[in-house]
Amino acid sequence: MFNGKMKALTFSYDDGNMADSKLIEILDRYGMKGTFNINTSRLPKEGDRPSFVREGAYIEKYMWNELRDAYSGHEIASHSLTHPHLEKLDRATCRAEMLTDMINIEAITGKMPVGMAYPFGSYSDETVDVLKELGLKYARGTWSNHSFDIQSDLLRFRPTCHHNDPELMNLAKQFVELKPDTPKIFYVWGHTYEFEIQKNWDVIERFCDYLAGHDDIFFGTNEEVLLDVNG
Ligand SMILES: [Zn+2]
Repeated sequence: MFNGKMKALTFSYDDGNMADSKLIEILDRYGMKGTFNINTSRLPKEGDRPSFVREGAYIEKYMWNELRDAYSGHEIASHSLTHPHLEKLDRATCRAEMLTDMINIEAITGKMPVGMAYPFGSYSDETVDVLKELGLKYARGTWSNHSFDIQSDLLRFRPTCHHNDPELMNLAKQFVELKPDTPKIFYVWGHTYEFEIQKNWDVIERFCDYLAGHDDIFFGTNEEVLLDVNG
């Protein structure tokens, strides 16, 4: 388990934009790893780089051919092809949304993704069924539970908290002080463009700095952490 450790920290960031590179720079500096959930239809193979202004922040998307290098050393997982509410689609369309994104990710990385994050955090029992059929092993929602406990239903996985959660650093302190007999996971999620909009990169910098250097904590991607426990 976790290279002989009982505690693991993992990150999950959605939508695939170039601000992810700033988070990766921070994670790499602290020897940490994350999972980045992308919608491949929004990342063009040619033409102009997509960009937009959101709440005053200038956000740029990656081009397709930049993805492999951009996320090197981390995990690319699915966020569906076009970011719909998956639970509102009929089964065949939901399946196509997921499978096409997965095949695109395989084309980029050479490996089929094993996980995803639900667009808008929403899903139905049928959505979960489709993911199961497609061989996905974990899927993350957005409903935080402030818990480090192992979860048995990985296709309805609940994160510990969002990075803007007022409890973030309290949870970090609790996690550092834990001396567990069973595996515990600290799972943080968000979007890196939120750091750009809110100009609060210091939040994640401080969090990583606080959790770094504890040799009883394993740092891994979602796949490395979640599937190690439930594999
Ligand atoms: Zn999203």
